[in-house]
Amino acid sequence: MDRVNPVKKKVVIALGGNALGENLSEQMVAIRSTSKKIVELVKAGYQVVVTHGNGPQVGLVTDCFDTYKIDHDIDRFTMSVCVSITQGYIGYDLQNMLREELLNQGLNIPVSTVITQVIVDPDDPAFNEPTKPIGLYLNDEQAERRRKMGEVLVKFPKGWRQVVASPEPQHIVEIETIRVLMEAGQVVIACGGGGIPVQQIGNRLKGVEAIIDKDLTSAKLANLIDADYFVILTAVEKVALNYGKENEQWLSRLTLEEAQKYIDEGHFGKGSMLPKVIAAMRVVQARPQCKALITSLDKLMDGLEGKTGTVIVP
Ligand code: ADP
Ligand code: MG
Repeated sequence: MDRVNPVKKKVVIALGGNALGENLSEQMVAIRSTSKKIVELVKAGYQVVVTHGNGPQVGLVTDCFDTYKIDHDIDRFTMSVCVSITQGYIGYDLQNMLREELLNQGLNIPVSTVITQVIVDPDDPAFNEPTKPIGLYLNDEQAERRRKMGEVLVKFPKGWRQVVASPEPQHIVEIETIRVLMEAGQVVIACGGGGIPVQQIGNRLKGVEAIIDKDLTSAKLANLIDADYFVILTAVEKVALNYGKENEQWLSRLTLEEAQKYIDEGHFGKGSMLPKVIAAMRVVQARPQCKALITSLDKLMDGLEGKTGTVIVP
């Protein structure tokens, strides 16, 4: 096995929705091309940690349990349990496909998925105002049933959706495990879906009803492992000003000062591009030597080589 090499560059890759697909069959297809791209990096000598989102998947899991509950007297599955299920399910697919692609490239490197808990502050103001939409669009009747189960629902143009709180990630509980696996030369999958949200009560970690933003948790991970590169892979090759408008302008480089100015001017979609820009800023603020990049999956290698993407610089 290819043991750890202190010269190897450490890269955190945060996978977005389009790298995973939105259902079982889409996920199988998407994860194959995603794994090929990641293995290119491993082959090029990078030490890789992969994080991923879980928006559609966690919605599916909660929707299934809530629908089942209509006819069966079962306990409600908490959000923290639902996140853990998606970490296992997505981790399984990724771990399996990465292994296969590594072997196809003649690389006998173990891949591991770490069930990751992330501590949040129960007094985080985010709990007063759930904002993160999950799951399918519901009609009035379905929404009413779910409201009776204690869920918060918000009306969107296409129907009702459940929304949950999205508090700040304070600490990654399994960080030492992630470090040890990396030092052993493994490809690590961690912090899926932003991590399982937990509250610390003495020695006990208690699950809480929330979904942590995966880009913010990934930024925390990049800082804690001293990453050399922090790459957020999403559906667009670059970040834009006036996104989707006639005067749209794609950006190759953003200083912290410019990024803050454009945030204040409202250029980045809330819950989509905004957390990515903030996550990249946090990494560069804490560790200016780290290269923080937002780009698309197919541009991963070009981005790392400085040929494309949006780089956030001090
Ligand atoms: P992911 O699922 O990859 O984590 P999202 O789909 O939530 O990410 O966010 C990425 C999307 O953000 C892009 O596909 C794009 O539609 C949208 N977006 C919003 N504002 C911008 C912007 N200023 N520049 C580029 N994309 C933007
Ligand atoms: Mg998405």
